[in-house]
Amino acid sequence: MTRPYNFSAGPAAIPEEVLQTAASEMLDWHGSGMSVMEMSHRGKEFISIYEQAEADLRELLAVPSNFKILFMQGGGLAENAIVPLNLSRGASADFVVTGSWSQKSQKEARKYCEVHIAASNEADGHTSLPAPSSWQLSAKPSYVHLCSNETIHGVEFHELPDLKALGCDAPLVIDFSSHVASRSVDWSRVGVAFGGAQKNLGPAGLTLVVIREDLLGQALKACPSAFDYQLVANNQSMYNTPPTYGIYMAGLTFQWLKRQTEGGLTGLAAMEARNIAKARLLYEFLDQSQLYSNPVALDGRSRMNIPFRLRDESLNDAFLAGAKARGLLQLKGHKSVGGMRASIYNAMPLAGVQALVDYLRDFEQTQA
Ligand code: PMP
Repeated sequence: MTRPYNFSAGPAAIPEEVLQTAASEMLDWHGSGMSVMEMSHRGKEFISIYEQAEADLRELLAVPSNFKILFMQGGGLAENAIVPLNLSRGASADFVVTGSWSQKSQKEARKYCEVHIAASNEADGHTSLPAPSSWQLSAKPSYVHLCSNETIHGVEFHELPDLKALGCDAPLVIDFSSHVASRSVDWSRVGVAFGGAQKNLGPAGLTLVVIREDLLGQALKACPSAFDYQLVANNQSMYNTPPTYGIYMAGLTFQWLKRQTEGGLTGLAAMEARNIAKARLLYEFLDQSQLYSNPVALDGRSRMNIPFRLRDESLNDAFLAGAKARGLLQLKGHKSVGGMRASIYNAMPLAGVQALVDYLRDFEQTQA
């Protein structure tokens, strides 16, 4: 039996091999007599799972040794508070707004520090990528925040800004929730990266934080201890009980990622090449179509989340019903923007995108 293709924006599809491994290990992990869910986070079994997951992620994303990898709870939205609690020193932070998620981030940060909007694409409905040369950075922000892939509006930074070249010494904070592990990261430009796991890493409940060591130890007094990056780092993410099953599932996903090959490439490079091919296939179809359209400027189009609209929106329900009948699930756009959205994270194979394109074409023909 083949499973349907699941285009959910998150919680999203998990590679079938990962689900199968988890299923086979559910009752008895590696002869331990325990499910991973039943293990002490301080026992040798779970510590080995954690250490392997951390090492695999460090290798896959080429995380330099002066960065800590933290496995936390709270999701992306909690990080919108945790970052200013840890980095703002109660002063000010700059935000680049490119869609709903960075908008939410700057609103939340206002509870903890002053906020300055350095650039925003709100005027064009979050469909463009403001060029870094046009950003109005403030004199001494404690950090600069951006969302490197806007999950709802489908706007992605294909290159991170070089803040130093813009005359700014502040660390860059990126919310990479919805494209983490889909491409390489230029760590020389990043101070902190955070993301929820439920798109590309595993089930909801696990939050990944990658932080440059020199940024630890500046938390405000009011910062909850469990969210103080320094305490979390000092305790190998076990200051409080970490989301153990999520870490295990992410670990299986990292091993799956390492096994991927594509045209002579392996691991993350293979995945990135495949993601480029998947996104190209879908955008090329949408762009030549008379029925569907994607509004995002070419240089800011996301490889992961591809929103599109039908020119005649009265067809939306029929479109979605037909998609479901073809085994193409969860294509409805976010409720705040309507329309459709295909989220094509790492777990979506090229064949799944091809099946979607075939359906888009057939549906358009029935309307001709
Ligand atoms: N940031 C981005 C880019 C997201 O896509 C999401 C969730 N869709 C969030 C933050 C919020 O994540 P959570 O619901 O895990 O708090």
